Amino acid sequence: MSESDTQSWLNPGAVAAILAAPPADPIQIRAILQKARALAGLDFQEVAALSRISDPELVQELFATAREVKETIYGRRMVLFAPLYISNVCGNECTYCAFSRSNKGIARHALSMDEIQRETAQLIEQGQKRLLLVAGEGYPASKGGFQYVLDSIAAVYDVTRHHGNIRRLNVNVAPLSVDEFKQLRDASIGTYQLFQETYHRPTYAAVHLGGKKADFDWRVTAMDRAMAAGIDDVGLGVLFGLYDWRFELLSLLQHNAHLEESFGVGCHTISVPRMEPAENAPLAATPPARVSDEDFKKLIAILRVAVPYTGIILSTRESAEMRRSCYDLGVSQISAGSRTNPGGYSAGTDATAQFQLGDHRSLEEIVRDLATMGYIPSFCTACYRLGRTGKDFMDLAKPGLIKRKCDPNAVTTFLEYLTDYACEETRAAGEVAIEAELGKMDAKVRANAERMLNNIRIGKRDVFC
Ligand code: SAM
Ligand code: SF4
Repeated sequence: MSESDTQSWLNPGAVAAILAAPPADPIQIRAILQKARALAGLDFQEVAALSRISDPELVQELFATAREVKETIYGRRMVLFAPLYISNVCGNECTYCAFSRSNKGIARHALSMDEIQRETAQLIEQGQKRLLLVAGEGYPASKGGFQYVLDSIAAVYDVTRHHGNIRRLNVNVAPLSVDEFKQLRDASIGTYQLFQETYHRPTYAAVHLGGKKADFDWRVTAMDRAMAAGIDDVGLGVLFGLYDWRFELLSLLQHNAHLEESFGVGCHTISVPRMEPAENAPLAATPPARVSDEDFKKLIAILRVAVPYTGIILSTRESAEMRRSCYDLGVSQISAGSRTNPGGYSAGTDATAQFQLGDHRSLEEIVRDLATMGYIPSFCTACYRLGRTGKDFMDLAKPGLIKRKCDPNAVTTFLEYLTDYACEETRAAGEVAIEAELGKMDAKVRANAERMLNNIRIGKRDVFC
């Protein structure tokens, strides 16, 4: 793949031009927010206009609109997951990452299948049902090269502990060929995630100094190959802090529009990692385009109203306080209890973490906090299990039909968690949140939810619709 292959859809000139134009006036901004309330998303120009709001009153109106959109589509549900780092061996030279090949200061380790299963067992015993498998790009030949990733996926799905197993495994590994993506699809992954890091070519070249990842085009075309291979849930992302966030936001939306045009469906999720300090990676301590907390909230709110049906993922890179203030602006999935060092859950290795975490709370602490805030922590995996993925998912989501499934599935998986893994205090907070949620459902959805909850109370597990 060359630069000319992406020129038709990734257009930095158009992004720069639109950002250089005079900002929209308050009347135009309010008209855009009014349009956003119709839940049909926004176009490129409208997103650009929102990204340039600075008047505090308009910012508050943007936040209020994002809250309204979030509440209408996602209600109080918040999907939970944990990352599972299988290896920090990496052949790339990313100047912001502790796993960078030239960093001799960290111990390298690719987990064995036994170690992966030990980690998985730990996570299941905490109550996790959804994981994100993560690895550096350097699968040891002694472990089978890319086959190592496939073996690791099978190893995760193979573990059962007491009441549970991992029901959905998403994957964040380096770009693959179409043939390799087909193998990944056949391994029953959930979403394939890959962050472009930055869509700004000169910045990309300046921070990716070696290894396969230095090839911008190979990375930016990865989702085309994944979707051509039949993976229909893909997750985009940008590493915020490398270049102007407005440019990144608009470029990411160009990427999404390209996927929608080519494959009939855009991305399933967007991740919003902000750069955090990392060992022996000086760039990460002083991000060249640091995103302030206020701008970070703005970009989440803009994404929420621009692509209302696309999940937004917020990781434990952010502090507990920051995460709390972003939930209602549009976030629909969060990681919890994360470790970013391979072996970190069972502490069987001394491998170093990829970057510093901001939220160190356990899964249970986060669940209790969410419930106390009136959220329903959801461990739902129903859509993926029932084949409601890609366009099928969006066709249900856009007319608002998916909510009739998500709401009962969320309270049911939450009650399953409370029953099997939570202490009394968490259970009490959870029961209050579930009762409040039932009160908001219409009669038919509530009847279905109560039937499903009852099944959990009498000992059934993995109940979904
Ligand atoms: N190695 C593969 C790759 O780079 O795509 C897959 C996983 S990589 C471990 C996951 C993500 O971590 C990267 O895409 C990058 O955005 C993020 N990351 C790396 N260094 C970081 C840092 N210092 N702070 C926050 N996120 C970071
Ligand atoms: Fe390797 Fe990914 Fe870290 Fe780059 S970001 S050094 S590719 S693990």
